[in-house]
Amino acid sequence: MTPETTPGSPPALVLRGVSRSYGGSTAVAGLDLTVPAGSFYGLVGPNGAGKTTTMSMIAGLLRPDRGEIQVAGIDLARNPRAAKAMLGVLPDRLRTFDRLTGRQLLYYYGVLRGLKPGVVSQRIADLARAFDLTEALGRVVSDYSAGMTKKVMLAGAMIHSPRLLVLDEPFEAVDPVSSANILEILSAYVARGGTVLLSSHGMDLIERVCTRVAVIVGGQLLAEGTVDEVRGEMTLEQRFVELSGEATSMEGLEWLHTFSD
Ligand code: ATP
Repeated sequence: MTPETTPGSPPALVLRGVSRSYGGSTAVAGLDLTVPAGSFYGLVGPNGAGKTTTMSMIAGLLRPDRGEIQVAGIDLARNPRAAKAMLGVLPDRLRTFDRLTGRQLLYYYGVLRGLKPGVVSQRIADLARAFDLTEALGRVVSDYSAGMTKKVMLAGAMIHSPRLLVLDEPFEAVDPVSSANILEILSAYVARGGTVLLSSHGMDLIERVCTRVAVIVGGQLLAEGTVDEVRGEMTLEQRFVELSGEATSMEGLEWLHTFSD
């Protein structure tokens, strides 16, 4: 048993009563969530459910209106530096310093996290090999494809070996071979006591890799538990559709089948 999973060590992440509105509209409504250390935790929900808002608050990029967030027992609002040091974050929009080359970007990710330059250089080489980016390191990130940009930012999120990785849609736009590589890297990280919280629309993937899953709809937690507990007798996708409510109606789209040519 690793120290991280011994009984009595704090969960990797705790949210209590976390809420956030934009103007008058509520995006996240009193969310309670506990992510045990050493878990591979999936956050799922339909478009606009509040996943990115939740992850941005965990990452310290957005302040909750109410509620508290603890990372490995450290209160994010009271002690942001210590809490953020535990975190590696892949944000949803891939906005980054894209005039830098991949190597420069990863270098700055590393030194800004307090690593020594020699250590950073070694880790850049290791990460580039793992993410199949070695050839691309000398090119500016603005010339990368969407999947390559995601991979370099994911590498950047890992460079300081954080305890918790918060990954918003890490597999979106990533090819199947790279996805399998990334999954292998993340699984090994979790097996050694790291914790991954990821959002995804890929129910198969969540079902395959996650130990626990939370379903949020309309900013509220509708189901949480091990993947088996949440899906019950159904597939996760069926359960997800059930929890997300009615499928969108096709009514009113008859004109689409009239073909105007
Ligand atoms: P998706 O699966 O489509 O990425 P999501 O679950 O990540 O969706 P959020 O991006 O958290 O959902 O959005 C939750 C709600 O908050 C939506 O209604 C969205 O329109 C709203 N919202 C998100 N960001 C902003 C913003 N910056 N300003 C105003 N409203 C916002």
